[in-house]
Amino acid sequence: MLKIFNCDLHIHTCLSPCGDLDMYPRALVEKSLERGLHVIAICDHNSSENVQYVIKAARRKPLIILPGMEITTREEVHLLALFDRLDELQVLQEIVYSNLSGKNDEDVFGCQAIVNEMGEVEGFNERLLIGATDLSLKGLVEDIHRLGGLAIAAHIDREGFSVISQLGFIPEDIKFDALEISARLEIEEAREKYPQLLSYPFLKSSDAHFLRDIGGAFTKFFLEEGTTTEIKMAFAKKGGRYIME
Ligand SMILES: [Zn+2]
Ligand SMILES: [Zn+2]
Repeated sequence: MLKIFNCDLHIHTCLSPCGDLDMYPRALVEKSLERGLHVIAICDHNSSENVQYVIKAARRKPLIILPGMEITTREEVHLLALFDRLDELQVLQEIVYSNLSGKNDEDVFGCQAIVNEMGEVEGFNERLLIGATDLSLKGLVEDIHRLGGLAIAAHIDREGFSVISQLGFIPEDIKFDALEISARLEIEEAREKYPQLLSYPFLKSSDAHFLRDIGGAFTKFFLEEGTTTEIKMAFAKKGGRYIME
């Protein structure tokens, strides 16, 4: 049966250097439920070690967790990769790590905590997660598709780290599944602001780095299940699935 799914498909955890320490798995699951969300995607910068713990924290709760990542490409564009399965994301993680250099400086960028479903610190990621990978936007979108994921251009209306801010336009040969707008804009406004992008599906997410921001923006999908396959059908307006703009 098709029904409405409130989806916030871009949420950070305390693993992102800029993510608040209060964004540990159990807390963000509780906040998502409180905000009436049905599906969330965990998208830390260039990393995914907390995804498994968010999935565990949401076990037996009416909240679906999509494994994801927000990757910084060579062009300094933020790209969201969303999957249904953790093993698909883990293959992408290996590609990302082998193309990411540098060490984090906690005092400058913030700490990168790996926290389990019980709220216990498992360790700290020492890589420079805030840095850019050596992966090209085009190649990365192709890698994500090859692994069965969705590739979504993050916060295209933002003045930094968006495909429009970095490249000035959206290249036609890069096959984004959808474009994300930030909490500052409504989809209707984005449609007016970017008339050249009418053919793309738009979605809206919170990009939450703090608990209070979770669900501050989200997308209503009409789906049968909260999976990337169903979301993809909604992007294509197939089988009665669609985005409720
Ligand atoms: Zn971003
Ligand atoms: Zn983000």
